[in-house]
Amino acid sequence: MSSGTIHELTALLSRLPGIGKRTAARLVFHLLDADTDYVRHLGATVAALPDKIFRCAICGNLDESNPCHLCADPSRDATLICVVERIPDLWAVETGGTFRGRYHVLHGLLSPLDGVGPDDLNLALLHQNVTAQQVREVIVATRPSVEGEATALLIQQTLADTGVAVSRIAAGVPHGSEIEYTDARTLERALADRKAM
Ligand SMILES: [Zn+2]
Repeated sequence: MSSGTIHELTALLSRLPGIGKRTAARLVFHLLDADTDYVRHLGATVAALPDKIFRCAICGNLDESNPCHLCADPSRDATLICVVERIPDLWAVETGGTFRGRYHVLHGLLSPLDGVGPDDLNLALLHQNVTAQQVREVIVATRPSVEGEATALLIQQTLADTGVAVSRIAAGVPHGSEIEYTDARTLERALADRKAM
């Protein structure tokens, strides 16, 4: 490995969220000391990501199949949709184990200051799914923050013409906290105690 390669990998890793230049350099030197089989396995797994993982055309989940395993599971209730901001939030709801409906992943929250507008949240697909699957309820499980509440209102407005019931997870998830880091029992209670919007 030339020092050019070390610099290149450092620069690539420092583009990851939460990884500064110094952490990236530490990771690179850790990899240089690590077991070579591990390093090759890590590299091959990262390299395969674009060819192995697909975005589900129905819900926006990322999985090795399209539709994803959740949308393809006939035992799940296709008339109940839980809307989440990101895929780790979907995993957090799944960890509870009691939600048996389907999901819609927004991949963001409405945030005009950050350049995220209504068209960036895949709501046309949500509207289409609600109509096509005769969905009876959409539960909005975005985080309790200004952006999360604005997104919930936008979803309610977007779906108003479909007649579907739109509900919001109950307070209990602390304001400003991330769904992903909310413990499973709190999240289960917030889902069970959801309120009609
Ligand atoms: Zn899916």
